[in-house]
Amino acid sequence: MHANFVRSALMRSFHVDVDTSLKLCPHCDAVYVRAPLSPDERAYCRRCGGELYRNHEVRIAALLPLVFAGFITYVTCNVFPIVTLEIQGLSTQTTVWGAVRAMAHHGMWPVATLVLATTTLVPFLELGLLTYLLASLAAGRVPVGFGPIVRFMRVARPWGMVEVFLLGIVASMVKLSAMATVVPGPALWAFGALVALLAIVIVVDPADFWEYAAKVASLERARAAEEARTAEEFS
Ligand SMILES: [Zn+2]
Repeated sequence: MHANFVRSALMRSFHVDVDTSLKLCPHCDAVYVRAPLSPDERAYCRRCGGELYRNHEVRIAALLPLVFAGFITYVTCNVFPIVTLEIQGLSTQTTVWGAVRAMAHHGMWPVATLVLATTTLVPFLELGLLTYLLASLAAGRVPVGFGPIVRFMRVARPWGMVEVFLLGIVASMVKLSAMATVVPGPALWAFGALVALLAIVIVVDPADFWEYAAKVASLERARAAEEARTAEEFS
């Protein structure tokens, strides 16, 4: 009974037209009937005490400007130099792309690929997909490919490792400072800002998008029904 109940709830969640009145505890699998929460209120599991869900609706609506700011810092990270080294009057500087190319040139393909994927591709995909989702939802419609995108974001999220990259750069800068004059570039500060922005953005669980989209979908349906009724009255 319990398994069938959960399975049918999961199957229905493949459509945005979903019954979001049920909530499965992510820690112990207990099933609850969802109660409405006021902004920033949280619900906890009665059985294990774990957090069930929060009211993220307000935060989701305010996320779009942060994502745009993320894009600006992302471009800064990739266009400007990360660091400038000065040794005996000679100066050299590098960008992320320059570092990736240098590693590939020296045969370090696995590391170059990993750096490119975790610091460039995944953050770009995450920011791009978030912009697409949030802009569509803000415009009052559920975007095409909503389900696969939200599921993909969940899978891709752990592979965004901008903060690990930043930590690596800072550690190597400290080591290099014994041999040369190390000047942090604009991209390094931008990476710091990007880490902070991404940390704020990923507070919202991709699962929260389902609930938000369900509300948008029901408003969309109500609007379509209203339009159909008006058209009928006039014909
Ligand atoms: Zn629980």
